[in-house]
Amino acid sequence: MTQDLRRALDAAQRHSLEHLETLNDRPVGATRSVEDLRQSLLKPLADEGLDAAQVVEELVADVKGGLHANTGGRFYAWVMGGTLPSAVAADWLTTAWDQNAGMFAVAPAAAIVEEAAGMWIKDLLGLPAAASFALVTGGQMANTTGLAAARHRVLENFGWDVERRGLFGAPPIRVVTGAHRHATILRALRLLGMGTECLIELPLDAEGRLQTNDLKAELAKHPGEPTIVLMQAGDVNIGAFDDFEALMPIARQHRAWVHVDGAFGLWAAATPRFRHFLKGADQADSWATDGHKWLNVPYDCGYAIIADTAAHRAAMSQQAEYLLPSEARDQVDWNPEFSRRARGFATYAAIRQLGRKGIASLVERCCESAHAIATGIGALPGAQLVWEPRINQGLVRFLDPGAGATEENHDARTEEIIRRIVASGEAFFGPTTWNGRRCMRISVCSWQTSPEDVRRTVAAVKNQLSDYAAA
Ligand SMILES: *Cc1c(COP(=O)(O)O)cnc(C)c1O
Repeated sequence: MTQDLRRALDAAQRHSLEHLETLNDRPVGATRSVEDLRQSLLKPLADEGLDAAQVVEELVADVKGGLHANTGGRFYAWVMGGTLPSAVAADWLTTAWDQNAGMFAVAPAAAIVEEAAGMWIKDLLGLPAAASFALVTGGQMANTTGLAAARHRVLENFGWDVERRGLFGAPPIRVVTGAHRHATILRALRLLGMGTECLIELPLDAEGRLQTNDLKAELAKHPGEPTIVLMQAGDVNIGAFDDFEALMPIARQHRAWVHVDGAFGLWAAATPRFRHFLKGADQADSWATDGHKWLNVPYDCGYAIIADTAAHRAAMSQQAEYLLPSEARDQVDWNPEFSRRARGFATYAAIRQLGRKGIASLVERCCESAHAIATGIGALPGAQLVWEPRINQGLVRFLDPGAGATEENHDARTEEIIRRIVASGEAFFGPTTWNGRRCMRISVCSWQTSPEDVRRTVAAVKNQLSDYAAA
């Protein structure tokens, strides 16, 4: 057993280091097709087992070429963070320790580590120290947890106990938001039994923000209705922040619950340079954010933070006969899960590695890189800067030079150039649709992105543009 374990873990360490140390020397995107991956991985289920180290060796060999180098410095698609060294190491230990972080009695150190992580995150993000929190799998469940607490409170205000009676016969809830809300909001509403039709999406201004007059008018339509207002701290296309200071009093006047989706954008509060974008956001009732994006901890890790601790607890707490009375915070009282991974260790390690200053610097460097990449690409012949990054998100387009080229031609050209950049292996970007037009999104969330990566990225895009023009 000991020999098996040692050989398996040695192999894992060797291959992990090999993967992480060669990120910059390999194509950023996976190079293998779906058929090819199936060919290697869809093996018939064997009757006999294998030696543990052999399983690890074969797994590594079989996934080769099928992994993105997304924790490296030139991966800018979606909104994805890298992984800090201390966080990778702590995550390994989390697996080796295999603590069940459901409650203090089951995993004492894991419970207290989460207390520390929660305290530090609230401090870093400028949120109320007395707020309750939960370490969940990601932004999806952080939004779901925040909205579950919201659902409790807005119905409780109408004398309806949703935990006991459910939503059958309950007063309808409306959820008012802007058109920039994230896709995960829809699923959160479905899981919570509220359905997507309760969502009222208001138009945005040119900066991607909810407009105060629109919110006022919408809330005034049904003054007596249970209402949740969902604000955005950093949308996925342009990193837009709602004007919290202006919107918050309007929501308050209607006794609406305010939830802020700040999956990555809330981290702008970690530096004095960008904190102004979040002015007033601390007045909300709940916030959702991620650890696996801008904090650079491994998947999966998100944080739900809730000012109304009673609503949070009422929505989540689940007692069972065999649970012991606890001396400390029990995660089951705040989390949607029961047994769960002790994901607090990686967060704890990342925050300790960087400290307050290191986190501020990480956020600033990502924003500087995003700005340099977007403006660098935007200045190339055949490219157009569509959104100059305010934080870490920018947009560019590639234009069809043909006489009489239409918007559709530009859309097609944009998709083709993205495909070619990804195929070159030098950088990885994804497309998005913004204001009806296809764009290439630039999202920088990794601690690894260096000035050299920025230079290589702009050069790679330049090469693809000139190759395409020459062809
Ligand atoms: C990424 C993101 C989410 C979803 O977070 P996951 O961690 O992917 O579940 C929600 N909202 C915004 C604004 C995001 O950027």
